[in-house]
Amino acid sequence: MKYVTLTIDGQKITVPEDYSIIQAAKELNIEIPALCYDPNLEVVSACRLCIVEIEGSKKLETSCSVKVREGMVVNTETERVVNARKDILQLLLDSHPNDCLTCQKAGECLLQKYSYRYNVRFREHDGAMRPKLIDTSSPYILKDNSKCILCGKCVRTCSQIKGEREVLAFAKRGYNTQIVLDDDQSFETSKCVSCNRCVTVCPVGALVDKRVLGKTRVWEAEVKTVSCKVCAYGCEFEVLSKKNKNIAVRAKSPSNGRPLCLKGRLTTELMYLHNPDKPYRKIGKKFVESSWTKTLGLSDIIEKIDKIEEK
Ligand code: SF4
Ligand code: SF4
Ligand code: SF4
Repeated sequence: MKYVTLTIDGQKITVPEDYSIIQAAKELNIEIPALCYDPNLEVVSACRLCIVEIEGSKKLETSCSVKVREGMVVNTETERVVNARKDILQLLLDSHPNDCLTCQKAGECLLQKYSYRYNVRFREHDGAMRPKLIDTSSPYILKDNSKCILCGKCVRTCSQIKGEREVLAFAKRGYNTQIVLDDDQSFETSKCVSCNRCVTVCPVGALVDKRVLGKTRVWEAEVKTVSCKVCAYGCEFEVLSKKNKNIAVRAKSPSNGRPLCLKGRLTTELMYLHNPDKPYRKIGKKFVESSWTKTLGLSDIIEKIDKIEEK
């Protein structure tokens, strides 16, 4: 592996030559803001919030896509960069619902975080609001298109498991662009398997975990990471607790090829929660309230144990 040395915000750093600028900056604890970038996903440079100035280059470059070079000099927070980032955030906020007071994502929303960092406010200009298309059909995921910033992380994440999933896609064009499931189905009628991979990567409140909704604000909960015991992948989940009571489980990012699945999530709920919500299974194109034994596929095992014990 070849290494190169470059300078970012006046600090020298030596990194592998296949690093992007955003990765090199992270090594220096410099957080370049980005909404569509995820180190585990294909780079698309869609949000352009990660722009930086590179000496010798006239235009601002996206730090997620530009690779480091020997002797490169990068500045991540110049006046020109900051102004461009403010414009991008303002465009997003001008058509975004002013809903942070009740939004489940508040406190960990990247749009909120960067708007605070650059002092950008809601609706400085009177842009048309994104239409409020809320999909409440799933007992596991709530999708609110009016909060979607079209970063595409959910689409790239869902399609990582080829063939099986690829449920999410961009549809329509221009201002009407939106994320749809299987050509405009709902979570209930699409072939979504409720793995919640998409929820874990959404940077805003457009996709939220419905089983956490209304139970706690993120800053009020104690969070403990646990590993799923169902299969060898050992996907990670977060157990949220309040006043020493475990109140909810949510999936962590599916990085390192971990598949994440509903069975793992529900099993983790059953193991850790004092009072887990009822489980639901998708039968045909309908979510149906079910028993834990049926949902976790334990009926056959329990029947067998009963027979053995009878003998
Ligand atoms: S998605 Fe983020 S910016 Fe939008 S309402 Fe929710 S917390 Fe606020
Ligand atoms: S829950 Fe899983 S299968 Fe369903 S849309 Fe999200 S990533 Fe795709
Ligand atoms: S739903 Fe979330 S992850 Fe998907 S495109 Fe919209 S903002 Fe991005």
